Amino acid sequence: AWLEDDTAATQDPPPVATTQDPPPDGGGGVAVAEMERGVVVLNNGEKMPLLGLGTWKSSDGSVKAAVTSAVECGYRHIDCAAIYGNEIEVGEALSGLFAAGTVSRSDLWVTSKLWNSMHASADVEKAVDKTLADLGLDYLDLYLVHWPVTGVKGERLSPPIEETWKAMETLVDKGKCKSIGVSNFSLKKIVAMKEYWRIPPAVNQVELHPLWRQDGLIQGCKDLGVHVTAYSPLGSPDSADMFGHSGRSLMKHPVVLDVAEKASKTVAQVLIKWALDRGTSVLPKSSNPDRIRANFDVQDWCLDPDLFAKLSAVEPQSRMLHGEFWLNPSGPYKTLADLWDDDD
Ligand code: NDP
Repeated sequence: AWLEDDTAATQDPPPVATTQDPPPDGGGGVAVAEMERGVVVLNNGEKMPLLGLGTWKSSDGSVKAAVTSAVECGYRHIDCAAIYGNEIEVGEALSGLFAAGTVSRSDLWVTSKLWNSMHASADVEKAVDKTLADLGLDYLDLYLVHWPVTGVKGERLSPPIEETWKAMETLVDKGKCKSIGVSNFSLKKIVAMKEYWRIPPAVNQVELHPLWRQDGLIQGCKDLGVHVTAYSPLGSPDSADMFGHSGRSLMKHPVVLDVAEKASKTVAQVLIKWALDRGTSVLPKSSNPDRIRANFDVQDWCLDPDLFAKLSAVEPQSRMLHGEFWLNPSGPYKTLADLWDDDD
């Protein structure tokens, strides 16, 4: 299977940038992430499978079965987060899969995320230790700062991103995380990190689908060597009520339906393929074994360039997850423009 293609493992990783190895622009840039078949080589040389299973809202007894069937059918990347409230159940699935010999730890990529209330230096390691205990792992492949939020309504204000990032870097030093990255970060916020990063973020995980393409953010991250992962690639239909976007369901968009019909594929398959063809990794969530399997069946066919172009021209563009719940009159993000820095 392409995600297990071992030709990738025989190739040399790209040079790893360090602070002793200044980039040509002298500006703290990093080695550019390189794409290989089924994996992306991140700026630290780690190889991340491009297609992962999302686990947000997979709960109430469903996530164990979802993770188990995903790994059984070939997924080698699971996207988790402490705030999803289901890491213990994900861990039960993982220990079962390891015990059964379905996959070894080193062949599986597990991502988790630091929640907003744990940004203080003293809290970051506690947070990862809790996630590791819940998942039953002794290291994470990737740990992301879930949001750049440093001030949350109803919670105490947390520190500047610099303090949080330095604490994240020590997790790599201690071997608790192989790679670290960010999520929901604007390009401006990542560029600002160049002032102090010792380890640049390997990944920025953001909302990406045809109704929110963010071409500028993807290109800017690419220039910095930061790989971009697409979350909510199917438009997150089950969070429609939560976020009030039920009127613009991506999976029912006429252009998307037309592309799927012309490609003789499911709507989800063409959306996942489109994400991969853009050079992003992608995290479709499903709790249904048949859909989990079908969503993985995106390797042995191509999306016609005309159909790719159609999906790349869907309008109107707007983000689904605005993040308005993180705005705080006492914090650094008082408006949505403060949070997103008007990235496209
Ligand atoms: P997705 O865009 O992946 O959509 C998931 C929904 O699509 C579910 O309702 C699922 O239902 C349905 N679905 C899945 N496959 C199919 C299919 N083949 N046909 C029809 N319906 C299908 O939404 P998410 O918002 O969950 O995003 C994916 C993942 O990205 C998350 O689970 C999480 O891991 C990550 N994420 C990260 C965020 C961040 O802040 N970093 C924010 C949001 C998401 P069913 O389960 O019944 O199949």
